[in-house]
Amino acid sequence: MAVERTLIIVKPDGVQRGLTGAILSRFEQRGLKIVGMKYMQVSRELAEKHYEVHREKPFFAGLVEYLTMGPVVAIALEGHNAIEASRNTIGATKPQTAAPGSLRGDFALDINRNLVHGSDSVENGQLEVSNFFSEAELITRTAADDAYLA
Ligand code: UDP
Ligand code: MG
Repeated sequence: MAVERTLIIVKPDGVQRGLTGAILSRFEQRGLKIVGMKYMQVSRELAEKHYEVHREKPFFAGLVEYLTMGPVVAIALEGHNAIEASRNTIGATKPQTAAPGSLRGDFALDINRNLVHGSDSVENGQLEVSNFFSEAELITRTAADDAYLA
């Protein structure tokens, strides 16, 4: 089984609405392990880099505004099948179609304020984690429940 890394971002609306803990707990309960975490203001430069693939989209400017409108909590998570599992925990991009039980399905209403980011491929997971964290900020550890999660 594949151990993967994903970058989760509690977007500014999630932080302002006091949902950081609720969001983090869903991932922790799922069995994903924190390897990096910080409360930070995303710069315009980092936001543009993070959403580079969307640069030509009509929503790009608004998206950069959104990610930089207030502080976020960036979390690097590691675990078996971390990418697919976390994408499913987050739910569909459009919150109004996201399944109940998913974060967006339970806590969000509109695509412009969809609460949380999660990497969409193993390759992007590695890349996005390294855009937000230095090597020294990423700390791996063995956990007591490792043997019960795979
Ligand atoms: N987004 C938007 N309008 C759109 C599509 C996307 O505002 O029509 C925003 C939304 O915040 C989304 C982000 O751009 O989370 C990145 O889009 P993507 O398709 O990668 O969705 P995600 O991977 O976040 O589900
Ligand atoms: Mg995406």
